[in-house]
Amino acid sequence: MFNVCHQCGMYRADKIIDPAGPYAVCPECGHAHPFRALPLMIVSGASGAGKSTICNALLGRYTDAVLLDSDILWCPAFDKPEDNYRDFIEIWLRMSKNIGQSGRPVVLFSAGMGVPGNIEPCVERRYFSAVHYLALTCDDGTLAERLRARPQWRASASNAFIESQVSFNRWFRETGPTLDPTITLLDTTAIAIEETTAQVANWIKQSAFSHQQKLTG
Ligand SMILES: [Zn+2]
Repeated sequence: MFNVCHQCGMYRADKIIDPAGPYAVCPECGHAHPFRALPLMIVSGASGAGKSTICNALLGRYTDAVLLDSDILWCPAFDKPEDNYRDFIEIWLRMSKNIGQSGRPVVLFSAGMGVPGNIEPCVERRYFSAVHYLALTCDDGTLAERLRARPQWRASASNAFIESQVSFNRWFRETGPTLDPTITLLDTTAIAIEETTAQVANWIKQSAFSHQQKLTG
């Protein structure tokens, strides 16, 4: 287990990063353990913006990264907006770090993890060479239509839910590009699923490649 020191056996999520290896250095005993510092890619956007559709379209076709939908680990215990969903995000960062040790970076499809201000302060953030953010967006009317068309069990058609997602969608469009780290936008309103899929695959490739350039240069 990554967070258990191979030398002293203490559990520490907050190892010190020595970029020379890179190494994760145990704060208890100083043991330096070499690890893979890979980039993490987050494909975000409001509900209805197309995350699941694109994730499904890429699965099995794009195999240079591990594609996961963050909802698979969601449960009510994580529903803590008061601390910006910190436990949920730390779990996913820890998962992604551990998956990355097998050599392939992770692409997380996630609404809640698309907010850099929630990710960057996390303890497990330090193990990634970079976190790249992409948000799928669309115009407000299209988003509302897509949510109303969903099956009833997903409870997506209530006005309150639609309004909250329309406002989240606007936040991505208006604030995303101004942030540091920035959120790259991809507007899916007028482009076919096939084209969106190709553009997301391209963004994943470029994000992973920018990391390799940084390592060798
Ligand atoms: Zn140790």
